[in-house]
Amino acid sequence: MIPSPETAWERLLKRRMVDPLTECWIWTGAHGGSGYGKIRYFRRYYDVHRLVGWLRLNLSSKPGLQVCHRCDNKRCFNPGHLFLGTQKDNLQDASWKGRMPNGQTHPGKYRRGATHPRAKVWGKEIGEIAGLWLTGQFRQCDIGRFYGLSQTGVSRILRSNGIARLRKIGAGQGRLL
Ligand SMILES: [Zn+2]
Repeated sequence: MIPSPETAWERLLKRRMVDPLTECWIWTGAHGGSGYGKIRYFRRYYDVHRLVGWLRLNLSSKPGLQVCHRCDNKRCFNPGHLFLGTQKDNLQDASWKGRMPNGQTHPGKYRRGATHPRAKVWGKEIGEIAGLWLTGQFRQCDIGRFYGLSQTGVSRILRSNGIARLRKIGAGQGRLL
């Protein structure tokens, strides 16, 4: 865990650029392949928005909830733009914003994801998950909710199939995957 909350908060503010139009707090430090800001503490990297969840949104007392963005800006860490959500909240949020493929809400998948969280996905779904993530339009936590997986589960699939690397290579070459 984070040793001193106030020190952590000060470190976050040092890397803040406020967007005057949206009031997004843009993280100017490092970011990972997922597009989320990253900050390093004691040899571990933390997602900046999750850190704000711990420091300002009381995330630690609400296990199982995820930190998601109202503003859809992955690098934003304005606490007012973040919310703690359940799978259901976040999936609804994603579909309201039209982030689901083809603008559909996929009621079948919604039901399955919301009521039958699974540890595993099948071969065809791994391809779908990879495809969704490579578009760059979906966050791992959204994809996870869609398929009844945790964000960690999605990340594991992407990594174990070498897909996370593929995205980095694509981004490095300036191509839009
Ligand atoms: Zn924002």
